[in-house]
Amino acid sequence: MDASSHDIAATLIGWYDEHARDLPWRARPGSPLPSRAGDPQWAYRVWLSEVMLQQTTTAAVAPYFAAFTARWPTVEALAAADEADVMAAWAGLGYYARARNLIACAREVAARGGAFPQTELELRKLPGLGAYTAAAVAAIAFGQRAVVVDANVERVVARLFAIDDPFPAGRKAVHAMADRITPERRAGDFAQAMMDLGATICTARTPKCALCPLAGQCRAYAAHAPERFPVKPPKKPRPTRTGTAFWVARGDAVWLVRRPAKGMLAGMRALPDDGWNARADGSGTAPLAGNWRPAGAVNHVFTHFALEMRLMVYADTDRLGPDSADGEWWPLANLEQAGLPTLYAKAARLAIAQTGDD
Ligand code: SF4
Repeated sequence: MDASSHDIAATLIGWYDEHARDLPWRARPGSPLPSRAGDPQWAYRVWLSEVMLQQTTTAAVAPYFAAFTARWPTVEALAAADEADVMAAWAGLGYYARARNLIACAREVAARGGAFPQTELELRKLPGLGAYTAAAVAAIAFGQRAVVVDANVERVVARLFAIDDPFPAGRKAVHAMADRITPERRAGDFAQAMMDLGATICTARTPKCALCPLAGQCRAYAAHAPERFPVKPPKKPRPTRTGTAFWVARGDAVWLVRRPAKGMLAGMRALPDDGWNARADGSGTAPLAGNWRPAGAVNHVFTHFALEMRLMVYADTDRLGPDSADGEWWPLANLEQAGLPTLYAKAARLAIAQTGDD
């Protein structure tokens, strides 16, 4: 680490000691790590928070983190949980592959005696732990020197060094510079300081450079062009898919199905639909014969496509509804407990609003 890199790390950690965000999954800046003080669940909390925080804001994560740690306070408890309960508790947080990996990882750690491995290399071998999460857990839970680069850190580093290779190729240069400025000591605090700076000061739009502790070392600031970095590639248009969801209510219950074990929203409870997916529109085919009436549509934006999902309501309520091993009659009064993904929860609200006056 050269002198200017050392200055960046020291300045930033000094700033973090004063300004760290108070978050439920954090140790106080500079305090001895609970993992070193013999708290075996500290790494569990750090890992859980880092998985939840992928592509998700701290404000959205906080109530889920509180609910998960109250219900499953240890990695062993989470490992023993029913998969459907975990998926339902995750509902609304999005990116559901994370929840499936969460269970697989908890089970693997529990099988190893409940202790997370402490090095980045060993952490990477656990289900769902990519480069980012492994580095974050090694640094934040165990104080190991690891280069932790999330979207906030990418932005800060790209600006600090005015890295002008367009992303995603520019990520390599960002990682190399992040490596250069990561200190040996307090690497976890350094990583969290970078995240905090990116979240509160070096924000994507209108960064608050006048308040920034690194302004004196920042090349993008010196060039009066912080928002030019990171340099983005030209945008590809996001395709729009169409699909249909079907509302079949009988008395005080609605028919819900379990989505296939693989693919989008895998394993989640949902309304029956016509098989839409990221690559193709739905077929429009209803799950049972009879009269259906249109009841509007809901829109939802996924990472790679937008979906316009029409809603059809089964009008032949006097006919027998479906009964098959692939679904269940779910009481309308408890619909919130079904753990429907956001898209289907929106469709259900629309159906209830539409059918309430019938
Ligand atoms: Fe970001 Fe501005 Fe600080 Fe540079 S000076 S790191 S652009 S907030």
